[in-house]
Amino acid sequence: MTTFDYAPALESRSIVTIDSSYGHFINGVFVEGKNHFASINPSNEEVLSQISLAGSDDINRAVSAARVAYEATWSKMPGKERGKYLYRIARIMQERAREFAVLETLDNGKPIRESRDVDVPLAAAHFFYHAGWADKLDYVGVGHSPRPHGVAGQIIPWNFPLLMLAWKVAPALAAGNTVVLKPAESTSLTALLFAQVCQQAELPAGVVNIVTGDGSSGALLVNHPGVDKIAFTGSTEVGKAIARAIAPTKKKATLELGGKAANIVFDDAPIDETVEGIVNGIFFNQGHVCCAGSRLLLQENIAEQTIEALKVRMAKIRVGNPLDKNTDLGAINSSEQLGKIQSLSATGDQEGAQRWSPECVLPEKGYWFPPTIFTGVTQAHRIAREEIFGPVLSVLTFRTPAEAIEKANNTPYGLSAGIWSEKGSRILWAAQQLRAGVIWANTFNKFEPASPFGGYKESGWGREGGRHGLAAYLTSDENGDN
Ligand code: NAD
Repeated sequence: MTTFDYAPALESRSIVTIDSSYGHFINGVFVEGKNHFASINPSNEEVLSQISLAGSDDINRAVSAARVAYEATWSKMPGKERGKYLYRIARIMQERAREFAVLETLDNGKPIRESRDVDVPLAAAHFFYHAGWADKLDYVGVGHSPRPHGVAGQIIPWNFPLLMLAWKVAPALAAGNTVVLKPAESTSLTALLFAQVCQQAELPAGVVNIVTGDGSSGALLVNHPGVDKIAFTGSTEVGKAIARAIAPTKKKATLELGGKAANIVFDDAPIDETVEGIVNGIFFNQGHVCCAGSRLLLQENIAEQTIEALKVRMAKIRVGNPLDKNTDLGAINSSEQLGKIQSLSATGDQEGAQRWSPECVLPEKGYWFPPTIFTGVTQAHRIAREEIFGPVLSVLTFRTPAEAIEKANNTPYGLSAGIWSEKGSRILWAAQQLRAGVIWANTFNKFEPASPFGGYKESGWGREGGRHGLAAYLTSDENGDN
């Protein structure tokens, strides 16, 4: 049999300029920061830059700048004018798309194909979508003449750094709020590039402020009395800590947290398409996806055949340099996350599940984990219950549709689910039974700014995207809010 090897197809990084160190972006300008820490390219451990750790002085300055901009400018500006800024930001993001994509791949470790074709276009799409809403807030559905909350404190994770920023900043600004955003400590660079876009778009000073740092900086932002709304995406553990911290206050909150989605395959599903969906569901973005299809539920009579087909497909996944346009699976974002994936996978071995990975040569430097499946998994296994947040799939089986639903819902989470079946009636029936915020049928991991995203149970509070996500940034007298 003839096989074709892929020649390397490296994206050039020359389009990107990275400063040796960064401060914070406050009141429209970059200001000096302190207590720097390194941002690392996880694919080769190269230090890309030194990032500042925001302390209480920095958070105070950023929140004050956001308050002044809110009172003096942004909340007073007609929606139509705010919309123009959002359109301008969206267009600049498109113009600088390659720069954003290369920088995201360097800082995060995700394949350039994904940052170029998914993260950056979707981030721009979020700004376009919300630009259209800015002068139509009466139709969001929160009552007449809705008002913004004020200053939004926004905290995001490292798995989709620019996209999560767009999910947060675009609706906040469209609704008339101003923002203090803190990116995750391992992936601040595209947020800092976005700060340059705000300057380029001549966004009024203080409307967007970006402070970098770790959980301690995030906690200072959450607890700041000048913040009116918290928007958080991250782990359930930190989400619970935030909920506790703001419980005695009037702060509003949306929390987008973890997941352990069931991807359910019925015996009438077309196997080849389903296998593509399974691979996309768990290996997209190295499995660092809150809504990843990390629990595969196979109907027993097709389990063996599907697993065999999946293994054949997995052997073709190309793991390696994220800047190579052929790469399917990039680097794990940090040594800490790699450690978590390794230790949870080890519990899978200890608890008796069978681990399988295709043969693949992992680069010597950097943080890497091969695409992996565990078969023989039961509901009792930790790898069936806990979020691994890596390229690791737990495979379970079921006999009847009712058993599939029972197993799928047997989780503290409820963010997403997938259904694979030829029958529309079965898909609709299953979708009604599943306790998950997003349900995909015969596809997986599809995102769209107009579609609300969010979870049940420990996957969080509220929705992001669409009219529902925008509503979380607004209030009105009819809502009983004051
Ligand atoms: P994390 O909770 O450790 O960190 C997320 C952010 O919170 C980071 O910016 C971090 O610095 C900050 N933070 C940490 N401790 C804090 C504290 N005490 N107070 C305030 N801020 C604090 O999560 P992570 O490891 O960066 O991200 C992975 C998690 O995010 C996964 O559980 C994943 O499922 C979840 N996630 C959810 C969604 C969603 O939309 N539901 C999307 C992406 C990721």
